[in-house]
Amino acid sequence: MILSEKLETAQKSFKKWRQVPFSEKQQYLFKLADLLEKNAEKFGKNITLEMNKPLSQSIAEIEKCALMARYYGNAENILKPEKIKTEYRVSEIHYAPLGVILGVMPWNFPFWQVLRFAVPAILAGNTVVLKHASICFGSGRMIEKLFTDAGFPEGVFQNLEIGHAEVKSVLENPIIKGVSLTGSEKAGAEIASTAGKNIKKSLLELGGSDAFIVLDDSDFNEAAKSGAKARLQNCGQACNAAKRFIIQKSAEEEFLPLFINEYQKFVPDDPLKKETNLSGMARPDLADELEKQYEKALKNGAEIILPLKRVSDKVFEPGLIRVEKGNPILEEELFGPLGMVMIAQNDQEALELANNIPFGLANSVWTKDEKRQLFFIENLESGTVTINKETSSDPRLPFGGAKSSGYGTELSMIALKEFVTAKTVVGN
Ligand code: NDP
Repeated sequence: MILSEKLETAQKSFKKWRQVPFSEKQQYLFKLADLLEKNAEKFGKNITLEMNKPLSQSIAEIEKCALMARYYGNAENILKPEKIKTEYRVSEIHYAPLGVILGVMPWNFPFWQVLRFAVPAILAGNTVVLKHASICFGSGRMIEKLFTDAGFPEGVFQNLEIGHAEVKSVLENPIIKGVSLTGSEKAGAEIASTAGKNIKKSLLELGGSDAFIVLDDSDFNEAAKSGAKARLQNCGQACNAAKRFIIQKSAEEEFLPLFINEYQKFVPDDPLKKETNLSGMARPDLADELEKQYEKALKNGAEIILPLKRVSDKVFEPGLIRVEKGNPILEEELFGPLGMVMIAQNDQEALELANNIPFGLANSVWTKDEKRQLFFIENLESGTVTINKETSSDPRLPFGGAKSSGYGTELSMIALKEFVTAKTVVGN
């Protein structure tokens, strides 16, 4: 089918799909979850071959997608008409789906990013067309087939194999009513400006450079293990990965050696071996970019704790650098196996260092003291604050950014209301 036919199909499908009762839509999600679980190995292998993620992490990604589909399968229908008490005979809120929504998705979690957006948008009554990252067209095709195999009517979910230069004209097409993008700030700004010019809703999930704050009363062993995983899982290519380790001065001597030890347990190997915990980056140009950022950080005074060693075109031995306030590298996202360590004298300075960047996605704080926890919960400028564990998204809880990390909410019940109009029905 050519592109214009796919958009027409999505439009036609929307007219019928929006009428399908919520509970009936949910039945398809259970089937989708079953198929994800049944094919976890096959889909996982495809992910690994496309973007090099260790196979065990690819399979875990598919399992998480199944969990998310079941969560929405069991969700209460919060989109049914709501009665509001007023002096009128009728006053209600009805939630009307917007129509065909475009998803522009990245390569770092080729199934999760797509399904995390598509499942709630579709359950709300919209239909979806996907522009996947150009190295993940195989995943795009598999996800389209997954929706068909789960019994969803034709046109509810379609994969468009287009380059990013074509996204603008698709978004300008009157059939498209909204867009959700996960990716870089640059792509986000371009998409949001096209959406804005055409008065269409946009949701942006962009980068982060989140802090992992270790205070002097935390469980250092747990924090060290969790911190290494938080930086190096998915080869460091996650928007919500811990990228800056802000350590209280009085914790440094004990915590840092433990952290380095855990970090060094991540050794690059063949991604298809089940025990591999670190493999190559997704594309050589992304590895080139990380290497340039490393050099920029060093040129501006960063000190090497563990060198970032390039082993081949996409593979690194992970690096760790000590960075001071004012280093321009702090303005950037490091999307790969390179972590930054910063030292703070006290809680106030740790907070300032954490907040003093353009991004604000998902910070993590380690302290046993509830008062100290509350101070960071209330003052960190990010969409998520995680206490005494590494950050990871959870279908039951909202996920989204503050500042340059984007806007809009994915996951949780809130995501069901992202691509709907809250329609007021009022009268006597
Ligand atoms: P991009 O933002 O370029 O890619 C993400 C998606 O957006 C892809 O589908 C891409 O398509 C598409 N895209 C890119 N440019 C445009 C545009 N101008 N208009 C419409 N769509 C566009 O990320 P990269 O792959 O280049 O990675 C670069 C950096 O972005 C990373 O190093 C990282 O910092 C950040 N990033 C953040 C992610 C996150 O999870 N927040 C995910 C991925 C990247 P195509 O593949 O065809 O270019």
